[in-house]
Amino acid sequence: MVKPYSRPAADEPAWWFVVSSDQILLTEDNDLPFGCLADLSFPSLDDYTVVQIGELRERSCYLVIADYLDDNFVDGKFEPLRQLLDASDLEKFAMAGRARQFSDFISTHRFCGRCGTRMQAVDWELAMHCHQCNHRCYPRVSPCIIVAITKGEQLLLAQGKRHKQGMYSILAGFVEAGESLEQALAREVHEEAGIQVQNIEYQLSQPWPFPHSLMMGFTAEWAGGELHIDPHELVTGDWFDFDDLPPTPPAGTIAHTLIEKAIGKKAD
Ligand SMILES: [Zn+2]
Repeated sequence: MVKPYSRPAADEPAWWFVVSSDQILLTEDNDLPFGCLADLSFPSLDDYTVVQIGELRERSCYLVIADYLDDNFVDGKFEPLRQLLDASDLEKFAMAGRARQFSDFISTHRFCGRCGTRMQAVDWELAMHCHQCNHRCYPRVSPCIIVAITKGEQLLLAQGKRHKQGMYSILAGFVEAGESLEQALAREVHEEAGIQVQNIEYQLSQPWPFPHSLMMGFTAEWAGGELHIDPHELVTGDWFDFDDLPPTPPAGTIAHTLIEKAIGKKAD
């Protein structure tokens, strides 16, 4: 059973996820703080919300919700969460994403959305509860589809408005209320690229904590329609030959894995 608000024993080494807004405390060598509280130069945690969020390599993980630009944590520095993705340790990145999502959840659910009463943290699961009207909230997860579409020996890639300069990726979009994943996929692909797809195959998923998506990854094949890139969401897009792709997302991202799978499947 989860006891979210328990504290570690003084001599228990643990992973520490000190989150401030969308940033996380990293050591000088860009790693997560690890160790017993007695050995770490943390401020007294009595003034902070501390939440046990799971285990990493058989050690407990604790989220500490820090203030914006908190300067009581003198060892280390607050860095964007993406810094951990670059370090390509996906287990740490995933747990850091969980930490950030819980931090976000707790700080945005202090009051009940139904009756306005102050909410209390539940002590046996990660939830906030209103004792006035019994409304209970859980961290929000937003399902998204992401799909690698091939046409013969070509792959559809597009440049989103928020992508880094010159970076191309595959199509993605949020699932709307009341939609199945298949419906969301067909709608997004039609809206963003004007085409129809077939042979849709589910491949894998990845939590994506920017801020609380769950990316569900598919491969699919072009079935019809002329390519028409939606100018509201995308800068540009086109079919690219498998052996002549522009820069695409790095290893560790679901987009990278799906591109590899789509191209590999054709090569088989
Ligand atoms: Zn309420």
